[in-house]
Amino acid sequence: KPVINTNAPAPPGIEGEGFFAGKLSDIIGMARKFSLWPLPFATSCCGIEFMATMAPNYDLSRFGAERMSFSPRQADILLVCGTISKKLAPVLKQVYTQMAEPRWVVAVGACASSGGIFDTYSVLQGIDKIIPVDVYVPGCPPRPEQILEGYMQVQALAENESLRRRDLPEYKALLESYGIK
Ligand code: SF4
Repeated sequence: KPVINTNAPAPPGIEGEGFFAGKLSDIIGMARKFSLWPLPFATSCCGIEFMATMAPNYDLSRFGAERMSFSPRQADILLVCGTISKKLAPVLKQVYTQMAEPRWVVAVGACASSGGIFDTYSVLQGIDKIIPVDVYVPGCPPRPEQILEGYMQVQALAENESLRRRDLPEYKALLESYGIK
């Protein structure tokens, strides 16, 4: 018969109201972390590096992300790889708004992050001018290792934010500042 020490302190999270919900969110976060579906929005050279990231040498599928989604409705991460012209910007914004919550955005490379070397009238000077960005991956182009690092940062966000993010007032305010509901 097991001996129960009734004087032992309860482990954190076991006591009190909300225990079940807390643990469930942890499990969901862990499951999400390893089953994120990326939508590659690739327009130029950084897209080629993303292809290398998917290939066997770097193998993004190790992280449970081998299932590319070319429908925004079924995607969790928007990976913007390459130069975004101002003409294309409304399309990118529409793709983002069609994604369901929770959703994350990675700006892959200098062009997506800041316009890169293309400081011209026709190029968007960073996708964060039109949509919120979670992770910026520097480089022109970034190496696949850097893209993997950016992906892992999104995994960390997904693990902790999956259930809570959409209800956060600051997140709602951020979306509103971009005119996104
Ligand atoms: Fe090409 Fe460099 Fe721009 Fe990437 S950051 S799309 S490699 S010019």
